Amino acid sequence: MTRRLSIAIPSKGRLREPTWGLLEASGLSPQEPGERVLMATCRNADVDILFVRADDVPEYVQDGVVDCGVTGLDLVAEKECTVEVLLRLGYGNCSLQAAVPNEDPATRVEDLDGRRVATAHPVLSGKFLAERGLSAELVTVAGSAEIAPRLGLADAIIDLVSSGSTLRTNGLRPLGTLFESEAVLIGRTDAASREASRTITTVLGSVVTARANRYLMCNVPIDAVDAVTAILPTKGSPTVMPLANPATVALHALVPAKEIWQLLPRLELLGATSILTLPVERMVP
Ligand code: AMP
Repeated sequence: MTRRLSIAIPSKGRLREPTWGLLEASGLSPQEPGERVLMATCRNADVDILFVRADDVPEYVQDGVVDCGVTGLDLVAEKECTVEVLLRLGYGNCSLQAAVPNEDPATRVEDLDGRRVATAHPVLSGKFLAERGLSAELVTVAGSAEIAPRLGLADAIIDLVSSGSTLRTNGLRPLGTLFESEAVLIGRTDAASREASRTITTVLGSVVTARANRYLMCNVPIDAVDAVTAILPTKGSPTVMPLANPATVALHALVPAKEIWQLLPRLELLGATSILTLPVERMVP
């Protein structure tokens, strides 16, 4: 009998919905928990899901309360937990940035030397500043650091930013990025734990990889196959199949989703027709 696997996922906040979506897309079919329910089981797999705060996930994994968990890479670093990043999940992307009020003369992170900086991420910020030999005074706040300069609490802030609109709304200007983060699947570092989490890492990984790719199909004049193959942003070789019309072949390939908009007009220029792109459900490279 296989042992049940336990995974801790964020019960609220920014990472909750996309994590839930990833588990559903992976076919785990978690039972929808009611309000205040702390645990759920999966219909299709021997997996128990524990709902906790994103900042508690690294410790729960490190201490063996659960086998693995989903949280932000920034939180793993901030909590200084000994865990292994098993998989980057491709959502929850943000960066830890230093920022000053628009009217401040600072132009680089180095200009924060000797100044007061408010942050809810004192460990990451402290490490970054120390690595650069900067001696800013860190003022730790629980959240909403962007208001600190206006309150006279600090000259600058170090905070997580995704679009930058919160900075702009609060009259702040970024000076530079300290750390790039995204949602990650984490597990313990020993071989037994890694083995226990292998299946879920592969299954979630197949969805994460698939989401970043599209299945491209098009018809190509036979004498343009080499030119089309040369511009495909793929690692593997495309599939080329004969059609009833011997002057044309069907060409299929997996291409990164972010390249599609540049690729389509170039395919058209090379004579490709009936160009289709389809989402991919799962992909194990
Ligand atoms: P929560 O505070 O529960 O909403 O989750 C915060 C986590 O979401 C952070 O630790 C980051 O990993 C991630 N995140 C993604 N974008 C942002 C953002 N713009 N601000 C703060 N956290 C973000």
